[in-house]
Amino acid sequence: MDTYDVIIIGTGAGGGTLARHLAPSGKRILLLERGDWLPRELENWLTEAVFVDNRYVTPDTWYDADGTPFQPGVHYFVGGATKLYGAALYRLRKEDFGELRHHDGVSPAWPIAYDELEPYYTLAEQLYRVHGARGEDPTEPPSSAPYPHPAVSHEPRIQQLADDLVAAGYRPFHAPCGIMLDESDPPFSTCIRCATCDGFPCLAHAKSDAEVLGVRPALEHPNVTLLTNAKVVRLDTNGEGTAVTEVVVERDGAEERFAGDVVVAACGAANTAKLLLQSASDTHPNGLANGSDQVGRNYMFHDSTAVLALSREENATAYQKTLGLNDFYFGSDDFDYPLGNVQMVGKSQAAMFRGERPQATRLAPEWTLERMARHAIDFWLSTEDLPRPENRVTVNDGKLTLAYTETNAEAKKRLYAKVKSMLGKLDMNPDHLIHRFAYMKNDIPIAGCAHQAGTCRFGTDAATSALDVNCKAHELDNLYVVDTSVFPSIGAVNPALTAMANSLRVGDHLLERLK
Ligand SMILES: Cc1cc2nc3c(=O)[nH]c(=O)nc-3n(C[C@H](O)[C@H](O)[C@H](O)COP(=O)(O)OP(=O)(O)OC[C@H]3O[C@@H](n4cnc5c(N)ncnc54)[C@H](O)[C@@H]3O)c2cc1C
Ligand code: SF4
Repeated sequence: MDTYDVIIIGTGAGGGTLARHLAPSGKRILLLERGDWLPRELENWLTEAVFVDNRYVTPDTWYDADGTPFQPGVHYFVGGATKLYGAALYRLRKEDFGELRHHDGVSPAWPIAYDELEPYYTLAEQLYRVHGARGEDPTEPPSSAPYPHPAVSHEPRIQQLADDLVAAGYRPFHAPCGIMLDESDPPFSTCIRCATCDGFPCLAHAKSDAEVLGVRPALEHPNVTLLTNAKVVRLDTNGEGTAVTEVVVERDGAEERFAGDVVVAACGAANTAKLLLQSASDTHPNGLANGSDQVGRNYMFHDSTAVLALSREENATAYQKTLGLNDFYFGSDDFDYPLGNVQMVGKSQAAMFRGERPQATRLAPEWTLERMARHAIDFWLSTEDLPRPENRVTVNDGKLTLAYTETNAEAKKRLYAKVKSMLGKLDMNPDHLIHRFAYMKNDIPIAGCAHQAGTCRFGTDAATSALDVNCKAHELDNLYVVDTSVFPSIGAVNPALTAMANSLRVGDHLLERLK
């Protein structure tokens, strides 16, 4: 059996980042990824292929609490979900690391303070080439360095939106974007600033994803090996159950086994929980690392709403994700609890509306879908989802069940109403703020699990958390987790940069351990 110093399972935001950080150490590192390389093909940028045919979504079937099957919006490729992500690379707010009271309850504190993660946020912003402008976002946490790249400029309609928001008394800011755009030298810019970014793979490899900036740089080191189409199905332990001794992989229809001094799970929140739960044994009858019964629980995924408003003038923007608004992050004049974050999503295109005709035409009967797309200005509204023990992943006979009941619906409704109430001042049709189900991939809410988190939370108390402060399983000496499943709470900004930063933090711990 091949033996490695470190085995990393999954190559997304958590796993890909860790691989890059550990690679220069010279340690023997094995990356196991159930997916393949995402093919570079014209379909990467074809709206129908990506949004209508779901070309890059796994055909996996999961089940809701009633046993109804659904196709989850997850992506199995080298780079994981970051291959498709919008690369809005936000830090959590400093306050998100403490307890925050919400309408539906308390968002729990993290076992580390923001200040402990801050240097790793800075490093993650450098590795993932984040473009942004400090000092504009009123909720921005303190930072030890400027953004490594200047903010991506607004295109004219979005600049007008920013100006109108300021005139109306709001504080919009340039959103942190992970795209390799060099506006000062366009002929040499890797990114061409296109309209097919958010939710699409980048054909030009110009998006700051975990394949391009995590796995590929790691593989430049001869001590790093990647196996694709290698699905880890089980982790076996020694007789006492104190350490993982074998990683069991299904590959090309056959079983293979690998050993690692350190084993790191980074399969994404639902799949990491699944892997640990289905690794139950005599010494770990409820699943690995699950003496606390927390594995699989506290699933969160952001109460997000993708909406479009209709601009009076056409909106010719190509790359729309340049603006954010956090004025309601912690509440509003008429609501004492957090509402959430407002940002832009990729620009609507008529092909995305297929299947949405009834909803769209009911709201805007005189508008054709093409005209709607030309005038659309698209927003993404995110309210924090609270961790609830009943919102959980369970596994039965290899089948993944996701039981989920929404939290913070009132805050979500109010955030929507806030945005709707602004439209008249923003040169937009005041009556229409239309839901975009295509962007959510599916009108079954739990299938839109792009921002899944929380199923293996880390903490100081082994009775209430699965992992310790270094994200090592309390009950095993060599099992770590570095994906979004470690999040004790999710905040209301996008999760990837936090997963990357935490992975770098855990990586430093592992470098010390492996010395
Ligand atoms: C369309 C879309 C847009 C998004 N936009 C943003 C955004 O703008 N900003 C942001 O911050 N976040 C965004 N996200 C979310 C972000 O991509 C995720 O939060 C992040 O990638 C999670 O990182 P992870 O390491 O937990 O999991 P992933 O990145 O999903 O990586 C998990 C990896 O594990 C692999 N894997 C799973 N099971 C196994 C197994 N059993 N064996 C081997 N390998 C396995 C998977 O194939 C995958 O490669 C978006 C997501 C989507 C889908
Ligand atoms: S905007 Fe840039 S990073 Fe995004 S898909 Fe287009 S070329 Fe790639």
